[in-house]
Amino acid sequence: MSRLVRIRPGVLVVFGSSAIGGAAYRFFKSPSSSEGSLNPHTFTPYTLVDKQNVSPSSAIFTLRHSEGAHEPESVKEAWKRSVWSVQAKQPQLQIARAYTPLPPPVDASTESEETSAHVRLLIRAEEGGEVSTYLHGLPEKATIELRGPNVECELPHDIREVVFLAGGTGIAPAMQVAQAMARRTGSKMCILWANRRREECVGGVSDEHIPANPVLQGGSWLRNLIGLGQPPAPQPSAVVPVSHGKGVIVRELEALKERSRVATQESSVHQELSVQYYVDEEKTFIKPGDVAKRLHVNAPDEKGSRLILVSGPDGFIEHWAGKKLWVGGREVQGPLGGVLAQMDLKDWKVFKL
Ligand SMILES: Cc1cc2nc3c(=O)[nH]c(=O)nc-3n(C[C@H](O)[C@H](O)[C@H](O)COP(=O)(O)OP(=O)(O)OC[C@H]3O[C@@H](n4cnc5c(N)ncnc54)[C@H](O)[C@@H]3O)c2cc1C
Repeated sequence: MSRLVRIRPGVLVVFGSSAIGGAAYRFFKSPSSSEGSLNPHTFTPYTLVDKQNVSPSSAIFTLRHSEGAHEPESVKEAWKRSVWSVQAKQPQLQIARAYTPLPPPVDASTESEETSAHVRLLIRAEEGGEVSTYLHGLPEKATIELRGPNVECELPHDIREVVFLAGGTGIAPAMQVAQAMARRTGSKMCILWANRRREECVGGVSDEHIPANPVLQGGSWLRNLIGLGQPPAPQPSAVVPVSHGKGVIVRELEALKERSRVATQESSVHQELSVQYYVDEEKTFIKPGDVAKRLHVNAPDEKGSRLILVSGPDGFIEHWAGKKLWVGGREVQGPLGGVLAQMDLKDWKVFKL
């Protein structure tokens, strides 16, 4: 999740999405362009109908199409087999940033089509960040203009297993992939989710016990190395709902896991989603061995692709898989670097988000 920003007067420029990286877009588009449903070419007005704090620095924004339009086909398709984002506009500065819609909550199937067509964004307020702090400052019922979907990564049709390394809000694309994998019988996915503070994942218990690393006690070097930076000072004013001792994202991950368990029972074909939580302030960090032991080799009767996805702050991606590059105004994967380049990945492919 690149955070590069370029601003030019009179032109809206979005950097940081592989699909649209470097594309410049005329800010003053005709007013009629804002009508209709979500599309990648023009901004569409949405209304902020709910903002739920996840931690003192991040919240889930629930947005409804201002004129009640239904989810377009392009979005329905994107949910099935890709990681995708939308861009949210900061109108005064004429800039936009990419955000990754969260899948509808697992129980949304029981809700109306209108509710499940809502766009939910997990947005972290970056200190000094232009768009994220603007969005966090908006009152309920405010208008937020969105453009998309932008496909960041298409999952192979024969995808069988995914290991997802997520840093911070990199959990949003991980949840997109988890819901797409849930549609594939016999799929297997493991999310390794690293956060600076426990408050981002309250109540999250790893499927496999993770011992704290005593060597790193008191040190902040790794946190800086992997790009998670210094933890921001908590803002005590934020009211963070915790139900049954679990934060919102943790509960949604558990619901996704439960869905896999139910799918296994119903089809008798094993399907699995597991989650490992790593918290800087608890001195638990993702280690190469945690990845290595999940890289199974294709058995002769088990055909299919296996993918390692890496998503999070630039430093996190660089640490694990090397830098993404800018070539001809587009952001591209760049060579595999970082820790993963030193490992035996067998037949696993790596994709940096
Ligand atoms: C495909 C994609 C999906 C994404 N999905 C999500 C998501 O789901 N949720 C999410 O929260 N984020 C997501 N992001 C990141 C998001 O797009 C923004 O990058 C993020 O919100 C910060 O934008 P901003 O405008 O608030 O901060 P910016 O203004 O871009 O600033 C970012 C940081 O740089 C610092 N900074 C800015 N200018 C300077 C300067 N001149 N010198 C030194 N420091 C500076 C700021 O203080 C801030 O800490 C995604 C990014 C991509 C590419």
